[in-house]
Amino acid sequence: MAPPLYTLAEGRPYPDASTAQRFSDGSPAKGLALLQDTQLIETLAHFSRERVPERVVHASAVGTWGEFEVTHDISHLTSAKFLTGIGTKSKTLSRISTVGPGAGSADTVRDVRGWALKIFTEEGNQNFVFNDIPVFFVRDPIKFPSLNRSHKRHPATNITDPTMFWDFHSQNQEGIHALMLLYSNRGTPQSVRHVNGYSGHTYKLTKPDGTFHYVKFHFKTNQGTDTLTEQEADKLAGEDPDFHKRDMWDNIAKGNYPSWTLYIQVMTPQQAETYRWNIFDMTRVWPHSDFPLQEVGKLTQNKNPDNYFADIEQAAFSPSTMVPGIAPSADIMLQARMFAYPDAARYRLGTNYQQLPCNRPAVPVYCPYQRDGQGTINGNYAGDPNYVRSALKPLAFCPVDKGLPGQTPQQKVLGQKESGKGGTAAAAGPDAKHNIWVMGTVEDYASEVTEEDFEQPREFGEKVLGKQPGQQEQLVSNVAGHLGKADPAVWEATFDMFSRVTPELGEAIRKAVTSKAQK
Ligand code: NDP
Repeated sequence: MAPPLYTLAEGRPYPDASTAQRFSDGSPAKGLALLQDTQLIETLAHFSRERVPERVVHASAVGTWGEFEVTHDISHLTSAKFLTGIGTKSKTLSRISTVGPGAGSADTVRDVRGWALKIFTEEGNQNFVFNDIPVFFVRDPIKFPSLNRSHKRHPATNITDPTMFWDFHSQNQEGIHALMLLYSNRGTPQSVRHVNGYSGHTYKLTKPDGTFHYVKFHFKTNQGTDTLTEQEADKLAGEDPDFHKRDMWDNIAKGNYPSWTLYIQVMTPQQAETYRWNIFDMTRVWPHSDFPLQEVGKLTQNKNPDNYFADIEQAAFSPSTMVPGIAPSADIMLQARMFAYPDAARYRLGTNYQQLPCNRPAVPVYCPYQRDGQGTINGNYAGDPNYVRSALKPLAFCPVDKGLPGQTPQQKVLGQKESGKGGTAAAAGPDAKHNIWVMGTVEDYASEVTEEDFEQPREFGEKVLGKQPGQQEQLVSNVAGHLGKADPAVWEATFDMFSRVTPELGEAIRKAVTSKAQK
């Protein structure tokens, strides 16, 4: 095959890609560069603009293409086509990241891993923007920026700061469950092939008749969870900061495709009303014994990106991107993230980020009221009306999706004649009130911390870690190693917080921190 002909960015063939034009009077010294040298100017100017703003969190990531396949039909729970019909396959794009550190930081640091998946379905894109632990540090979205700043760099020193970290957490103790998981060895995974992806949030799976179930999603690694010790993680951070990225790339390159099994936990609206915990509180899990995992499908990562920037850096994931059959719940953190993630993408990639090849749905998109703006690459709908309800070019609309928040069967379907259809039965049915179900649980969203917040962390420390030899000691040592580097001013409040899990845990951490300090 003939080699590609080199051209300038606007297509003009050009004789040399590696030489700037210079004014020359024939002397060996040669002369100045020229403003007329379009190639030089474009090359330098483009280089200065090669980076888009780094993600404020989740900047460092491993990305892959893959495929999701339904293995167990759940059409009794949802109309989402990518989840129904055994053997149904959809293309996917995945991005697994650390959270706090910036791009270029070491992969093996102790951190939560973001676990994002874009599924290109026949009904548009579905995004899952999950984490590798099933709970989160805060349950009030106003704390989200503060939490993340406390995990990042100090505003004066620009150094990651254990004092800030423990100051935040000891004063916002609803994060204790997430802290227990982060400081277990799962906080330092062996590779990202060995982490799970949990929705954390409660979602709804919906049916066209308006009925629904509450669900939590769990993608469990088929490689098995595997972790590093703190010492191994620290060593690798120095020797091979790209350890996790290399591991994924190499495994996929040699055909050793990692996979995950998707399970769901399912709760009826009626169960939700009487369940002992607020099911919209992201600091709590649904115990497996109450809501067993039900298998749904398999995700296989089987292709490395062709180009990291094009495929992964430009990928934008949002919990607001849902197909019919999946809907948000009254989880306030989910509601806030549904705003924050697309907002971040608009800032980072521009207002038309959804048109980029890595984000573009696999189905035709006709969204003519979203047009113009920087980087429009979809043809911009030519002369089609850019205002709603045009009689000149009527639009077809799908039936009302009663899973959508705020929609009621009374709403008219724009552009269609009122048919009288719309499932009024569903409105009167037992699930209808859950479309606005916030009563009686609103107060639980407050950050006020009660003894209840320590029940599940206690269960985790005693029953889960307690059954695994050495794991409780590892937790103590992992916390103490980090807390010991913080200003002693934040120690006491932190010991107290862990003592609320069990007095023994608080005492063991106190002992480990203070004895180290005395050495
Ligand atoms: P189970 O006793 O049924 O199972 C405990 C779960 O804990 C396991 O299934 C596993 O999750 C996870 N786990 C096991 N070892 C570790 C470890 N070393 N570090 C971190 N996680 C580990 O759990 P319950 O449902 O009764 O919940 C008990 C506690 O387990 C919870 O309070 C929570 O802290 C933790 N947990 C619960 C999950 C849930 O969704 N119910 C999910 C993950 C943790 P997995 O199988 O997903 O790997």
